[in-house]
Amino acid sequence: MSRLTVVFFLFGAWASTFVSDFLKRYVRHLFRAGMWIITLHYYYLFYGNSGDPNWVVGTYITVIAISFGFFSGMALLLYSIYVFLLSIGIVILDRSLVGSVFLPGLLTMLFQANIGLRSRLNLIKDLKASNERFQTLFNSTFEGVLVHQDQKIVDANTAVLKMFDYTREEIVGRSIFDFIHPENRKTEMDKLRFADMAPYETVGVTKHGRAINIEVRGKDFEIGNHPTRIVTIQDISDRKLAEKERIIAMTLAENVRLRDDFISIASHELKTPLTALQLQVQLIERDLKKRPSEEQLIEIVHSSTQFLRRQITRITELVESMIDVSRISSGRFIMHKEKFDISTLVREIAGSLVALHTEPPVTIEIDALMPITLEGDRQRLGQVIENLLSNAIKYGNQKPIAIRARRQGPNACITVEDKGIGIAPEFIAKIFDRFERAVSARNITGFGLGLFIAREIVHAHGGTIEIKSTLGVGSTFTVTLPAD
Ligand code: ADP
Repeated sequence: MSRLTVVFFLFGAWASTFVSDFLKRYVRHLFRAGMWIITLHYYYLFYGNSGDPNWVVGTYITVIAISFGFFSGMALLLYSIYVFLLSIGIVILDRSLVGSVFLPGLLTMLFQANIGLRSRLNLIKDLKASNERFQTLFNSTFEGVLVHQDQKIVDANTAVLKMFDYTREEIVGRSIFDFIHPENRKTEMDKLRFADMAPYETVGVTKHGRAINIEVRGKDFEIGNHPTRIVTIQDISDRKLAEKERIIAMTLAENVRLRDDFISIASHELKTPLTALQLQVQLIERDLKKRPSEEQLIEIVHSSTQFLRRQITRITELVESMIDVSRISSGRFIMHKEKFDISTLVREIAGSLVALHTEPPVTIEIDALMPITLEGDRQRLGQVIENLLSNAIKYGNQKPIAIRARRQGPNACITVEDKGIGIAPEFIAKIFDRFERAVSARNITGFGLGLFIAREIVHAHGGTIEIKSTLGVGSTFTVTLPAD
């Protein structure tokens, strides 16, 4: 290999150290070894040309030039010792070279030491300046920045200190969990375990125990092989407060809208039976004006009573539903729980509805023989069963209805099935909402409150209510309740 090739190779190796950290680390060793070999080679050549001042000058210029390639003080020191030893070695081999080799060797060493010291001082100065620049930057961000290793805080910027009311001395060395609200520590640990980089909201605690809403984002990296995590923290208390206020305002507006809707629909619903009542009273008055005989009077009273009772029942039902809805809205819908057998309740209600509906008669197939004990509000759950059965009768096209009470694992399941009009898919999700009806009031009367109240009652018992329905085929409602 020609010397030029070696020089090019070394130069290439040196240049490649700028490309990547990996190359920098590994090629640098190679490069240094090359420098040592070249120096040795020069001494060898110099020994062959002993006494030639051109070689001496050339050698030491090369040595000095090479020494620029040693970036750390230690490498430079080792190299200087090496040059010194080579100089001594060559002088031992040829004593006549004391003046031409040993003294320039000594000078070279001094020169190198000088360069090393200067570059060290410059490095320290640069480091100091860069550290100051970094600290200014670190502390001038609005965002809190915190660095921790093994959950112990290594550094925190001014924004963090302000946010948590601590001084730097108080914060450094402490566990990051000291600054997280106890309830949120588990989530925080998970985020650390999975090295989560996505921002998340949590609750911090200041020195004086004040809880603050913060948004945190962390990133893992290494400082000298030590796993480190840098965390940015933003105080979002104001944003949270604004959000809360916005939600309260929206809820209030929504409540006002719901109340207005409720009043308008309820008054409309009340008006229908009241108008019918008024008309009936007018009819009675008109008949009375005709001075009816005692028999006619009995007939008038008899025919009117049934009609009046129906309208009064309707008004009573609506008023009761409205009272229930208002209790639900205000959180006063309280259950009075006791232990009872729901199968018996199913049989009782189904039986009473069959007895009530004689014109036309209703067929209910009851399958509720096995006792299922549960703890609940007997009267309210009876209301749910009655509502589902009444709907099955109302919307069942006068076809037989089936009700079943079964135990399924830890639950009691009550199923009400009809072969009636069914519900269109677009209405299924809505029928449990207030005043939502899948049929027009003209076809079948109702307030659209029954299922809403039923669902609230079932939920208050920790249960669920589900529906399967096909338009024109029929519907099946299933209530699942935790049993004993
Ligand atoms: P209401 O029966 O007083 O209208 P509900 O809340 O009990 O009020 O029921 C809401 C709507 O759900 C009803 O208006 C009806 O359209 C639909 N619905 C309830 N049960 C059935 C059923 N068994 N078959 C078909 N539609 C039903």
